[in-house]
Amino acid sequence: MANSYIASKISKEQKESRLQQTAKSIWMTGLSGAGKTTLGLALEKELFQRGFFIQLLDGDDVRTGLNRDLTYSEEGRTENIRRIAEVNALYNNSGIITISCFISPTNAIRYMARKIIGPENFIEVFVKAPLSLCEKRDVKGYYLKARQGLIKEFTGIDSPFEEPEHSDLVLETSSDTVEETIQRMIAFILPQIQYNKAKNPQ
Ligand code: ADP
Repeated sequence: MANSYIASKISKEQKESRLQQTAKSIWMTGLSGAGKTTLGLALEKELFQRGFFIQLLDGDDVRTGLNRDLTYSEEGRTENIRRIAEVNALYNNSGIITISCFISPTNAIRYMARKIIGPENFIEVFVKAPLSLCEKRDVKGYYLKARQGLIKEFTGIDSPFEEPEHSDLVLETSSDTVEETIQRMIAFILPQIQYNKAKNPQ
């Protein structure tokens, strides 16, 4: 059961009714460079154009603000995801759909996020690409720095990434184009966030 933040007297269902949507947390997990941000931004834009109200949360933004006190140690990574999951729960309880783009490298970390947010609200999307390709893309130049030892505990290099085995959706960004991947993602997500009047009678 998700954290319900019961101080509010207005229910999640009332807020979803106001926004005419079902609030879910779309959780993008995958290696750096796999495509989480590219796809997360595209999804946000597509959903917004269709009338949905969404909040995107991205690793670099959160690391420079809310979680700037945290390291990349196992402890730091766990606390990073714990706080982000709590933020997701707050948004969802306000009726807002979230898209979170975080490496979230281990099964334990993803399980914690699912538990905090509530399995009924959590949609795990595995943005999948081999390490060799992510390293070749090296969108932010982090892999080169990690190989040179300038960045420590970098996921895939000297910090582990456990491939998720039970994701709700797997997107292979090594074989599909950005446009194809976006279309697949939208087709999967849309039915789950449509407002369900039967579920929320007012
Ligand atoms: P992440 O947020 O996972 O670190 P980014 O989205 O920043 O990754 O970078 C992914 C890179 O891979 C981008 O340069 C993007 O154009 C490229 N790319 C190639 N094919 C795809 C695809 N099918 N989906 C997403 N990104 C792709």
